Amino acid sequence: MTRDESRQRVLVVEDEPNIASFARMYLEAAGFSVETAERGDTAVEMARQSPPDLVVLDLMLPGMDGYEVTRRLRGEGEVPIIMLTARDDPVDRVVGLELGADDYLTKPFNPRELVARVRAVLRRVDAVPSAKPPGAGTTLSYGELRVEVGGREVHVGPDQVALTPKEFDLLVALLENQGLVMTREALLEQVWGYTFLGDSRTIDVHVRQLRRKLGDACPIQTVWGTGYKVTATR
Ligand code: CA
Repeated sequence: MTRDESRQRVLVVEDEPNIASFARMYLEAAGFSVETAERGDTAVEMARQSPPDLVVLDLMLPGMDGYEVTRRLRGEGEVPIIMLTARDDPVDRVVGLELGADDYLTKPFNPRELVARVRAVLRRVDAVPSAKPPGAGTTLSYGELRVEVGGREVHVGPDQVALTPKEFDLLVALLENQGLVMTREALLEQVWGYTFLGDSRTIDVHVRQLRRKLGDACPIQTVWGTGYKVTATR
């Protein structure tokens, strides 16, 4: 198999051969270079040897499950991850997003939907460096909380807090819209770049994580029945 450096590389980690080959077929037809792994531990090894641009990751895998694979990959860099979760298992989704997956798809999925999600996630990731000028050098402060937008660093008092990329983007979106109530849909649109199929749980999960990580310094307030806001400071 030849490798074309100009194409973006997707690693599909899935032990069900039918799903893996469907995913490969559609992603290759869409112009991606695709590698597949059937085992979690193999996938981590492959990603280490030759980091892909994006990982499509099944949760239930031999060798090492998708949660552990995510932890390992997240320990080494910011490769975007799209999780494949079992149908009707919100717990999978919630845990996956808490671990820092960028998106998820419920099985069985339409392969065209997978291609659309892969493109959307890569577009967001690619947009980060080029979107630098507006935010670069900007520091958003709120009480003890200090967010350096360009450097993507968050401090509470003297302590740096590690956020996932989506937690960071969500926090910035709310801080930049101080005083306004943001609906979950608006936040999905702004932070994820498109709307999940009605799954506002995603925002709730990320807000919960932000509250846990930032503690009393978390400025985000729940507006019941609507969404979230950061109260305007003086
Ligand atoms: Ca599986």
